Amino acid sequence: MFERFRCTQLLEFDACTRCNECIEWCPVYQEIKEEKFVPWDTMCEEDKLGFSPKYRVLKMREMLNKKYGLRALIFGPREITKEELERYRDQTYMCTTCGTCRTVCESRLDTVSLWETTREMLVGEGIGPYGKQSRFLEILKSGNMYEAKQEERLCWLPSDIEFKKEAEVAYFVGCTAAFRAQKVAVASVRVLDELGVPFTLLGEEELCCGSVLMRSGQPSPLVENYIMKNIENLKKRGVKKVVFSCAGCMKTATLDWPKYWGKELPFETLTFPQYILQLVDEGYELDIKPVRKKVTYHDPCHTGRHLGIYEPPRRLIQMIPGLEFVEMERTRELQRCCGAGGAVKAGIPQLALAMSKRRVEDAIEVDAEMLISTCPFCRRNLRDGIKEMGIDMEMEDLMVILAEAMGLNTEVPENPYLYKS
Ligand code: SF4
Ligand code: SF4
Repeated sequence: MFERFRCTQLLEFDACTRCNECIEWCPVYQEIKEEKFVPWDTMCEEDKLGFSPKYRVLKMREMLNKKYGLRALIFGPREITKEELERYRDQTYMCTTCGTCRTVCESRLDTVSLWETTREMLVGEGIGPYGKQSRFLEILKSGNMYEAKQEERLCWLPSDIEFKKEAEVAYFVGCTAAFRAQKVAVASVRVLDELGVPFTLLGEEELCCGSVLMRSGQPSPLVENYIMKNIENLKKRGVKKVVFSCAGCMKTATLDWPKYWGKELPFETLTFPQYILQLVDEGYELDIKPVRKKVTYHDPCHTGRHLGIYEPPRRLIQMIPGLEFVEMERTRELQRCCGAGGAVKAGIPQLALAMSKRRVEDAIEVDAEMLISTCPFCRRNLRDGIKEMGIDMEMEDLMVILAEAMGLNTEVPENPYLYKS
């Protein structure tokens, strides 16, 4: 049962000094503590604490001791009950794997990897995943996480945009921008086209990056197959740089794909702000008109805390004249998660919604008229929060803001997914 953990991970469970720092910062525990989201019918304060990172570490330590501790060696292992494991499953799957606990942990525990391996263990025991996440494997057989038709992967592409069969630059659109946040995809290709960058798209050969299965503890031969095909197809097209509009795809490609590929990827991975700034540094000129708005920026966990990309989106925002840019209190390393990650949006949507409302409140506090991010998944979740709150605030992806400030048409052509959210 515990074989999935590496020796270093087992040591990490022992290394927690109970400093409580992670409890202070965990965005999920905050929602549960304040009862904005109530996972179980009856909950005492101790039950609530069970959802915090520290107590999940300590509970795993307790379970390991039951099986392998000194007492277990002398008197024999004690039973870990199904009920115990099911409660631990709930606690583990409520986590958005945002990584804040890893950032603040004084003992340097790599908690995100602990949570993901724990999920794999629970799936192995037939106790995980959670809710709708158990359909992921079936859904992903379609090639994407929305069970859409693969041959419609480019249904959002405006007819006047041309892409190359082979090019040094590829735009990896990702399932969400292709089928749910198509304006982001349109804006991204419009900017590339306007700058005259020859680029390629994988079209129906683009397969899900594998993020949702990995984050929910369900790595499988299907994930491996998709990753290898994506890499082979990009390689076949002579690609040297892959640009992502989804933070989840970017993190998965940058950190997880090389493990499956077995060596360094044959191309560089970049977010759109990073790539656009590279072009600017090479001498490309952006013809940007002023946009009069007070805006703030939400760092996606996957490109922020997980990859350390904080400055490029801010630099790009500040290149748009007229924008008044204000920072929220929690930004960069200590940014507050929007609530969508770690497969929580699919598995526990009410928790994702409570967390997104909290992040929107952060933006209200600084009087922002618009929240900007660089991930279609954050965009969807934060928009859901804004809608639920019934407030007058905009939420948009930075590429859409940039494209429109450049006078480009971001209208999405009519297609079967246009009105799906
Ligand atoms: S990764 Fe984020 S949500 Fe999960 S336990 Fe750590 S701080 Fe909480
Ligand atoms: S921050 Fe690290 S050491 Fe401190 S309680 Fe949390 S897991 Fe333990």
